[in-house]
Amino acid sequence: MPTRPDDFSATVIRLLRDRVNGICSNPGCRRATVGPSGSKPDKVVITGEAAHIKAAQPGGPRYDENQSPEERRSIENGLWLCGACADLIDKNDGADYPVEVLVAWKEQAEKATRLAQASPADHGERPWDSGFGGISYMNIPRLAMWGAGQGFGFDASFLADVTNLHDMGFDLTRLMWSVEKLLKQLSFQALPVEQAVELGQDFTGATVSFERQFFTKNGPQIPSRGQSVPVSSDWKKAPHIHCKLGKWRVVVVYDPRWITTSTAYVEFAAGNRRFKGIGIVKEMNERDHLVFVSPLFIGFPKPAFDLFEIQRLANAGIRQYKME
Ligand SMILES: [Zn+2]
Repeated sequence: MPTRPDDFSATVIRLLRDRVNGICSNPGCRRATVGPSGSKPDKVVITGEAAHIKAAQPGGPRYDENQSPEERRSIENGLWLCGACADLIDKNDGADYPVEVLVAWKEQAEKATRLAQASPADHGERPWDSGFGGISYMNIPRLAMWGAGQGFGFDASFLADVTNLHDMGFDLTRLMWSVEKLLKQLSFQALPVEQAVELGQDFTGATVSFERQFFTKNGPQIPSRGQSVPVSSDWKKAPHIHCKLGKWRVVVVYDPRWITTSTAYVEFAAGNRRFKGIGIVKEMNERDHLVFVSPLFIGFPKPAFDLFEIQRLANAGIRQYKME
């Protein structure tokens, strides 16, 4: 029952929750918020809430005085979040989480839920297996943003003066350690790109994972110190990796600034190589059957028989996912 005229009704709350299957809409969180009570067999525990995109009360985060009470309590003005993320978006008077960001979270979460429901495979709750042999590429500002959503981001402002990650020398090693730690903590809810294209529907905005053979194209030369690599806005001329999936070509266009090491530069110019990574689908071009993915990070898979890793996963009760 609404307690104030601008509060969501019980129906709106239930709809917001069910439209994302009770999973937090923050793409960096994606925590389940509905589960069984541990002590009472006939009870559920709900740890999420319907959060206001624009505040219900004057002076609240993102308050819009031009909204009517009906608009404030409408389903369009809400999104489903876990308790921690609901608190997070209102910190600093909501300045860090503007309306556009929250609307994008909501759209992406609902799209991901639709894809998870449509897909026959059980990828829905699979956390991203962060085991990989090395990091070749990491878009630090984007990764820092994702981490911040979970409360363990890192300050990426020092990168303002950095032309190429490659220039950082010893600092880069330290940075790669933090990113590796961050990736282990972040549970990416990513859809394998192979499954995404099989669904035969638009999945722009979805987070996808990939681990397969790619062709490399326009891999840049190792830059000299302080040299910035010009990037063409035409993807055909820009550095990218690509692969064919059925009628689709998956094109992962990357910004050379975030290539990590000299070895990584060589990998991106190898012609043909196995890559593993996570990215956001930027665009699906139906006419030319192109799927453009903007990468968060790219690495290479761990060797197939990593006994230490297998033991670690077994200890953690995580089943090995598609090790080839
Ligand atoms: Zn959350």
